[in-house]
Amino acid sequence: MTFDSFLSTEIKFLKGVGPERANALSNELNIRTFSDLLNHFPFRYVDRTRFYKIKEINTDMPFVQFKGKIVNAEVMRANKGKCLTAKVSDETGSVELIWFKGINWVAPKLKPNTEFIIFGKPTDFNGKTNIAHPEIEIASEENILIAKKLQPVYNTGEKLKSRWLDSKGIWKLQRTLVAQINKNIPETLSQEILKKHNLISREEAYKQIHLPDNHEMLKQATLRLKFDELFFLQLRLLQVKGIRKKTYSGLVFDKVGSYFNDFYNHHLPFPLTGAQKRVLKEIRQDMGTGKQMNRLLQGDVGSGKTIVALMSMLIALDNGFQACIMAPTEILANQHYKNLSKLLGFPHLPPSEGAKIPLVALLTGSTKKNEREKIHSLLHNGKLNILIGTHALIEEEVQFKNLGLVVIDEQHKFGVAQRSKLWKKSQVSLGGEDLEGASVKVFVPPHVLVMTATPIPRTLAMTLYGDLDVSVIDELPPGRTPVKTVHRYYAKHPQVFQFIKEQIQKGRQVYIVYPIIEESKFMDYKNLEEGFELIKKNFPPPEFSLGMVHGRLKPKLKEEQMKQFAEGKTNILVATTVIEVGVDVPNATLMVIESAERFGLSQLHQLRGRVGRGAEESFCILMTDYKISGDACTRMETMVRTTDGFEIAETDLRLRGPGDMSGTQQSGILDFKIADISKDAQLLQYTRGIAEELLKTDSELINPENVPILSELNRIKKAKPYWGRIS
Ligand code: ADP
Ligand code: MG
Repeated sequence: MTFDSFLSTEIKFLKGVGPERANALSNELNIRTFSDLLNHFPFRYVDRTRFYKIKEINTDMPFVQFKGKIVNAEVMRANKGKCLTAKVSDETGSVELIWFKGINWVAPKLKPNTEFIIFGKPTDFNGKTNIAHPEIEIASEENILIAKKLQPVYNTGEKLKSRWLDSKGIWKLQRTLVAQINKNIPETLSQEILKKHNLISREEAYKQIHLPDNHEMLKQATLRLKFDELFFLQLRLLQVKGIRKKTYSGLVFDKVGSYFNDFYNHHLPFPLTGAQKRVLKEIRQDMGTGKQMNRLLQGDVGSGKTIVALMSMLIALDNGFQACIMAPTEILANQHYKNLSKLLGFPHLPPSEGAKIPLVALLTGSTKKNEREKIHSLLHNGKLNILIGTHALIEEEVQFKNLGLVVIDEQHKFGVAQRSKLWKKSQVSLGGEDLEGASVKVFVPPHVLVMTATPIPRTLAMTLYGDLDVSVIDELPPGRTPVKTVHRYYAKHPQVFQFIKEQIQKGRQVYIVYPIIEESKFMDYKNLEEGFELIKKNFPPPEFSLGMVHGRLKPKLKEEQMKQFAEGKTNILVATTVIEVGVDVPNATLMVIESAERFGLSQLHQLRGRVGRGAEESFCILMTDYKISGDACTRMETMVRTTDGFEIAETDLRLRGPGDMSGTQQSGILDFKIADISKDAQLLQYTRGIAEELLKTDSELINPENVPILSELNRIKKAKPYWGRIS
């Protein structure tokens, strides 16, 4: 039998299955073939490797397994009906078994003077040890062998259980199948990798995962199967990355001209941090190669991504191209516009001799029609150098003359589809030559720089963005003192209000944040209103002035409130998470987060990033009830302990699992069968290294040694078509 025909055999042909069970297996567990069944892995194991003697049994044991002969068995009256008891003994003593249900079925099995294997939970009953509803089996040689195994436990379904396919039943099928395995499971790795990394064969791994000889073999099998999952994922991501670099040639930005130099020499407001310099160098290198850049720039809130984006755009300009920044909200787009204008030093500063000042415009949903038309035409004829905006940038009428660099801020707020739209609409056509030397138009996509302030744990980034290049700004600008964070219970509200007053008296501003969650919106808005009233009572006008922003405000009003706060006209801004991303008011030094237990860790971290942006010492107070869950407690402790975004992201991943992390939902990349990205970080990194190494020496996998790898990769590609990410 060939590999394929064995693994793809329909499950109904397995002994003990048949059409009805096959149907149930397919409906409830998606198991249709031998291969599907083998890949239905146990989620835990019960250790039954030992037989105890009866005198060793005590009620502290969660479970016990032993052998014994039935001495006598009788059905007796019990409180509400009947019960069956049986005395079993071995050479060390005896113990009582008891059944309240299934008596008619069990009783005939209890043949006297026959040895049984018994497995169950010892309990104390009227001062005597007994075992209720034990599993019993005749102690045949075969049964003893199986009983002594580490016993796998499988997920199953209701219909399957009613057809005797509970976990035990599934295990029986696995044993039947494993017994048929005989050199019909293809090896997927090269001999070299197997040897070098001490891995057992794939065939052996399947046998051992379902029927482990011992703990050590189980460990080996688990390692091997996880290895395959992670290794082939990484191999695929790296290949996609490689292919994209080959297929999509990129614009060559090899000049550094007066846009960049003038800025660098005359308008740079502060020395760049080491991390900013390094990242900028990485970007320049990327854009200079003639391959399209697809780079993810991660940097914690306040790490200074904006200036890196600006300087990258200036390089695009120096090479004769336009650039744009897309932000997820109008507030953020406005802020970018303001910041970039300020950084570029206009209109206040005269440019230095011979310098070029880029023409920058802002395009959002609220840009007026005539202004909009003006922008469209300047953009189209190439006079406009940098366009900043929201989704408005991807509308039909927006046409660039020659877009060379797209910067996407806070990318997790954009869907994949939106991003690809931006890319497609803005392909630049260059003159080129075809094979015969005739001149043709070649379409070249712009370089793409995606910026995110939500640090993604390295492991997750390696899978989710494994096909991208990643740059990290891991250093904050100098002079920042970390935000001091404390956790307080509601009873401390008076003291917290007092602290707010002190900050305001020092001339600082304060955010007070309330959660608004879709599922409990109505109550949440009520809480927000009540909270606002309470704050107003404690901070009455005209001594204090308050503002409020939330999702239900008209955009105009929201902008107005934000503006007032940014200009220092309001002391306290009561807000929902609408202030989460990017808002920059350096004079705000205190953030109070109400019902902090209702926010996720990453969200708390994002919120906290709104303070600590100026020179003054900043504070964050997390307010909760006395009673919060264990997870919520960990979140509060983590926030109090650290301001390191990456550490926070790792903890978040551990608490919530990968499924809930932002940006992961739509991908399906993380549907692992046996690996677990929050636990197998090291193995992931390890396999990534091996995949890189392999592609370096044999990028096409054509070396005969690597044939098994190539065919497995092709099989996976066919089964799971590419989930193209980004651009
Ligand atoms: P983010 O990465 O969150 O977008 P920003 O780019 O908004 O961060 O920068 C945060 C603040 O830090 C801004 O006020 C910016 O002017 C300032 N900043 C950025 N880089 C430096 C630096 N190298 N030295 C001092 N201040 C800097
Ligand atoms: Mg930013």
